[in-house]
Order: sequence, then structure tokens, then C-alpha cells
Amino acid sequence: MIRRFFWICLVLALIAIFCGIFLWLKSHRAPQVIGKCIHCVNTSEKVVAITFDDGPSRHTEEILNILRLHEVPATFFLLGKNAEQFPMLVRQTYQEGHEIGNHSYSHQPLVFKSLAFIRNEIDKTDKIIKESGYQGIIHFRAPYGRKLLGLPWVLYQSNRLHILFDVIPDDWARPGVTTIVNRILAQTKPGSIILCHDGDGDNAGDDRSQTIQALPVIIKELRAAGYQFLTISQLLKYDVSIPPEK
Ligand SMILES: [Zn+2]
Repeated sequence: MIRRFFWICLVLALIAIFCGIFLWLKSHRAPQVIGKCIHCVNTSEKVVAITFDDGPSRHTEEILNILRLHEVPATFFLLGKNAEQFPMLVRQTYQEGHEIGNHSYSHQPLVFKSLAFIRNEIDKTDKIIKESGYQGIIHFRAPYGRKLLGLPWVLYQSNRLHILFDVIPDDWARPGVTTIVNRILAQTKPGSIILCHDGDGDNAGDDRSQTIQALPVIIKELRAAGYQFLTISQLLKYDVSIPPEK
């Protein structure tokens, strides 16, 4: 009886460990086995990049207004489907000196998807961004930061970095303006990449008013702490170990 109980416990423990490893591998924290994935830049200089995902949306213009007022360059990882809907905002974003990134076309997790599906999500969005007139480098960030094998292989084949983040305030979940500010201030260090949202990737609700209210405070506090804001391309130059992209 005791032996049977032992075996049941062992099997359950192995299943739990397997599930834990599997979920970790699917998360944005897992290492990327092929190509290079950037969570932050290795530098002692007080430089950071603030990034906005899932737009453009009805909130993007207000975020652009704040960034313009405070003269902060940022990087916007757009969804192709939203860029199609708001082409004027795509143009306004890069014309005001911000960098444009690709966050896939439809924001579906790119794990357990065929290589053809992944390529289509990336290529279609690249095309929409280029057709807007944008001529700068287009960095890529996976929806939910999830990668596993297929996506890293596609990025590796096109000599493309995978740009993730190390400062995660979860502003999309609307935890409160003070919480967003405090999380960002607590997690930011030299070379950090801050993840915020100007749009809604998974239909959890597109109210970004907390992000908008937090933004001027974040800018003011980080500047007071001596930080300079850069685009992703500018930030990457601070780390000589990062290979140049095409
Ligand atoms: Zn997203």
C-alpha cells in the first residue's frame, strides 16, 4: 500500500515538474536556443528604452503628445492588423522621431505554429510598416514574448534579433497608476527595456488611461535619477556583444 502511494506521488511530481518546465519554456523568460534574444543591454551608462506594444490604437496619439512634450524618443512594436487600421498614426509615430517595430500581424502566440505561419505574420507586418513610408530598421518582438523553436529559427534565418524587455509593469492589466510607476522605477537599471502598451493585443480591454497617466511621472522620475531615453537601435549600440542587424 505504501509502495503504491509512493509511485502515485512520484508520477504526480514528475507530471508537475514536466508541466512547470513546459510552461517556463513557453514564457518570455526562457532562453532562446537559436539566434539572439535581448531582454536588456549590458551597460553601466544610465540609458533606457521605453517601448509600447499592440498599437496603434485610439490611445497612441495621446502617448505621442506626452513623448513630444517631454522630448522622449520611444519604440512602438505595432500589430500589422492595427497598423492597417490606423496608417496615419504609423506615419505620425515615425515622423516624430520614434522607432517602429514589428509585433506580428494578429498577436497570436507564435509557438506551435508552422514556419510558414510565423513568416507570414512577420512579413505581412513588415510590408505594412514599409508601405507607410518608414525606412528605419524594423525590430521584432513576439506576442507575449513567447518563442520556443520555430520563431527563433525564422528570426535567425533573416539575421534578426528578438527584442524583449526586462521591465514589466503589466500596465495592460490596469493595476493602478501608482503601481505601474512603482514597478517601473523598481525594475529599471542601466540598459533596461521597459514594456508598456498603447494598444490591446488580446482583447483584454483597450483602456490605456493608466499608462497615459503614469507616463509623465515615469519620465520625470527616471530623468531625475539620471536616465536618458533612447530608441531600441540607439540602446543596442551601448552593448558591443550585440551583433549588428541587416
Ligand atoms: Zn503584445
